[in-house]
Amino acid sequence: MKRYILPSLTGVVALGIAVAATTAQAQPALPPIHLPLGHDRTRPLPPVVDPGQPSTQEQAGKAPSDAVVLFDGSDIAQWVAMNGSPTKWVVKGGAMECVPGSGYVRTLQSFGACQFHLEFATPTPPEGSSQGRGNSGLFFGMGRYEIQVLDSFENKTYADGSCGSIYNQYPPLVNASRPPGQWQTYDILWTPPQFDDEGNLLSRPRVTAFHNGVLIHYNAELVGGTDWLRRVPLQPQPGKLPIALQDHGNPVRYRNIWVRELGPKSKPEFYLSDQLLDSYCGRYQFGRNDSCTVTRRDGNLLLRFSGVEFVLFAESPTHFFAKTVDVQAEFGENDGRPTLVVTVGEDDNGRRGRKVE
Ligand code: MG
Repeated sequence: MKRYILPSLTGVVALGIAVAATTAQAQPALPPIHLPLGHDRTRPLPPVVDPGQPSTQEQAGKAPSDAVVLFDGSDIAQWVAMNGSPTKWVVKGGAMECVPGSGYVRTLQSFGACQFHLEFATPTPPEGSSQGRGNSGLFFGMGRYEIQVLDSFENKTYADGSCGSIYNQYPPLVNASRPPGQWQTYDILWTPPQFDDEGNLLSRPRVTAFHNGVLIHYNAELVGGTDWLRRVPLQPQPGKLPIALQDHGNPVRYRNIWVRELGPKSKPEFYLSDQLLDSYCGRYQFGRNDSCTVTRRDGNLLLRFSGVEFVLFAESPTHFFAKTVDVQAEFGENDGRPTLVVTVGEDDNGRRGRKVE
């Protein structure tokens, strides 16, 4: 006679608990989210923002009242060549226009996670075909990550290079292009990559994007840089960097460009030219026995002062600040000699130094 051994009910329950425990161990719990009490009347009301006005084909719109306006139809001062020198792009009829051969332009200011809006119009009558027709591009991360600008109206090209594509990675979900010459909009939610102090990747860059109001990317995760023919792995970079527009040899026009930074309010940061930063480098003498040194590392200055090194961020072309402590540095000139005033804390009168090396 065949004997069947049935596990006891207690055994089955114990086994179930053990499996559940193993499963729970395999998936670490997400950090808890602490919300205020429901309907908490002391919860701050959201700030009031004028939403601006939508654009029409004839008339550029107006930015929301809390946006940083990067181009309002007349002033191109927020844009420079990639090396920080003045741009050769021109302002014509309320638009800034790419001058073929003049190079990319980038914002003077650096931005992290943000909501970004721009309008573009590709040339009419259209010239060229495929990637040669109305090609430009919107770049986050100082030229690393491109959202393609192209005349994709009845113009066939490879999918991950068409208008609205995250170049060489993701075609847009749909082709929402208007005909050449007409104004089109991009509304982008950009989240930069995050790295820890050792340069390990914590999260990839992410893009949600609307083209002419139509969703074309939903939380797309970028796998690397968006170069032609190759995918350069993600590399550590500062959390805030300039936004750029591409010169790809076509006179594409832009208007009504604005950005709303996300996250806690912080000081504006500017990405200055290496040439200007280098002009601040050297040793500054405070009085007889005290001095500090200023050096450059990539796009930042390093201030070595009182045995401690601080990374400085530019709040203006002459004023810098550290993020770890309240150290401020103001560069200037006195009798033709470079000067530096370093202050620590709000009530500090500052140490005034002159450049000696
Ligand atoms: Mg392009």
